[in-house]
Amino acid sequence: MPAQGWVPAYVGIGSNLDDPELQVRSALEALAELPGTRRISCSGLLRNVAMGPQPQPEFVNAVAGLLTQLPALGLLDELLAIERRQGRDRSLSLRWGPRRIDLDLLVYGDAVINVERLVVPHPGIATRNFVLLPLLEIAPTLRVPGQGPVWRLAAAANQQEQQANGNRARHKDSWETPATSPSKAP
Ligand code: AMP
Repeated sequence: MPAQGWVPAYVGIGSNLDDPELQVRSALEALAELPGTRRISCSGLLRNVAMGPQPQPEFVNAVAGLLTQLPALGLLDELLAIERRQGRDRSLSLRWGPRRIDLDLLVYGDAVINVERLVVPHPGIATRNFVLLPLLEIAPTLRVPGQGPVWRLAAAANQQEQQANGNRARHKDSWETPATSPSKAP
């Protein structure tokens, strides 16, 4: 383990296969067991309509806050190992497709990283309510490096979603399109 201080890191978790709520809870437990790492906060579990072209079950999402001594790539390896242990089959993984478990490193301290295996902050943060809302819940004062305060990102994403919903409502063809706002899992 490299000698470095404790770095605050945030991990997004999602599942829409094989009892998603159980999968997310298992991943939260696994994060608490990582070497050189403390899980210090967990959001509630949220249900979300799946993004992407193919019809698929809704997702359960959550975000965990960690303090870790692992380097960013070491933490990524641990997240991928949790996915493997929970039986995620990457050969079946379509982009935007259904998945048993998905762990994303959202934020790693103040780091801005863009290497082949790792992009941090995660590029999807600013546009995904299912990430921003749980992140806001556990880290309301967080500044996402290079992107600004999480509350501002959440407000902008919310406004965009409302505009999109308004546009959908104006287009007769799209009456059936569900809203994408998350709802609390029971
Ligand atoms: P996916 O399962 O679709 O989220 O993609 C996982 C792959 O994305 C992994 O093999 C990682 O190397 C790569 N990746 C790049 N940046 C990140 C990140 N911030 N968090 C998780 N995976 C990442």
